[in-house]
Amino acid sequence: MFSEELKKYSWDGTTAEIMAMTAADVERALSKERLDDRDFMALISPAAEPYLEQMAQRSRAITERRFGKTISIFIPLYITNSCTNSCVYCGFNRHNKFPRIVLTPEQIEAECKAIKEMGPFENLLIVTGENPAVAGTDYLEKALQVCRPYFSNLTIEVMPLSAEDYERLTHSGLNGVVCFQETYNRDRYKVYHPAGMKSKFEWRCDGFDRMGQAGVHKIGMGVLIGLEDWRTDVTMMARHLTYLRKHYWKTRYSVNFPRMRPSEAGFQPNVVMSDRELAQLTFAFRIFDPDVDISYSTRENHQFRNNMATLGVTTMSAGSKTDPGGYACYPDSLEQFAISDPTGPLAVAADLRALGREPVWKDWDRIFD
Ligand code: SF4
Repeated sequence: MFSEELKKYSWDGTTAEIMAMTAADVERALSKERLDDRDFMALISPAAEPYLEQMAQRSRAITERRFGKTISIFIPLYITNSCTNSCVYCGFNRHNKFPRIVLTPEQIEAECKAIKEMGPFENLLIVTGENPAVAGTDYLEKALQVCRPYFSNLTIEVMPLSAEDYERLTHSGLNGVVCFQETYNRDRYKVYHPAGMKSKFEWRCDGFDRMGQAGVHKIGMGVLIGLEDWRTDVTMMARHLTYLRKHYWKTRYSVNFPRMRPSEAGFQPNVVMSDRELAQLTFAFRIFDPDVDISYSTRENHQFRNNMATLGVTTMSAGSKTDPGGYACYPDSLEQFAISDPTGPLAVAADLRALGREPVWKDWDRIFD
């Protein structure tokens, strides 16, 4: 399990190593075809900042070679904001008093129909808070069954499950699972996740192994930028990805670098990542792992998403609502966080076309399930 492997790496030692990287380390990394974690650390270090243009060109070339000039489009569907956790940065945390929503199967179907009216979406990300008593595996299974006739590709972003439960859900159309470790800093993890199942670092971290064991087709990973030193966190994530690729080599992977957005929780980020730094990280990840899907959500603003669409990103959400029932049933319910890009899906697609990118609505078929 990766939580054991992670013990090999010192958080402070990794931070120091990144900050000690030099121009020579960056040039060595850029001269290699296959990069290791030290090369990745060089590319995300301050020493690589003068090489941004070179990194952008390399990232673009690798992306076009591996993915063509395409951007895959998806949309999230929040089906409940009920949650027993108390993540200090999230508006859905259990201490926040507001009416909780758990969509019924009929309401989920109404949301599916509303989404299909917005655009030709085929990739759906089903999102929940974490409350196993009201939105456990039975509920998720039902939700997948309701959504399945409407979308070719179903991914969930829910509480970490057992391998058996992941496997069970693949029989109802589950194709991918997204889970954010939030931070790999084991000592600080509990500060942000003080109670509930999410406070159990190992259970969450090893959830990715369980997804791999269950044969989930695609696994999405991410750390929340704004908690701990982002360079150290993404290095740990890169190591995690390398580990997963070695153990679950049939699986596809995606990464996401969500920057914290304002929410009802009122939490102020401990670290702020600039657009330039996010671009550097995106290029570094692409050069480090040519096959990984790099996903940008509507947390990022429209202009920045357009700027990055030709430089390494391969997947984008569009038209997103982060409140359950937000498309049809409860248009005014509480959002998990405020989005930055409210552009409609068809306008997002038109912009991508204008940039020479083909928006891909469908890249999976139920026949592969
Ligand atoms: S981040 Fe997720 S688990 Fe944490 S409080 Fe929000 S909805 Fe619940």
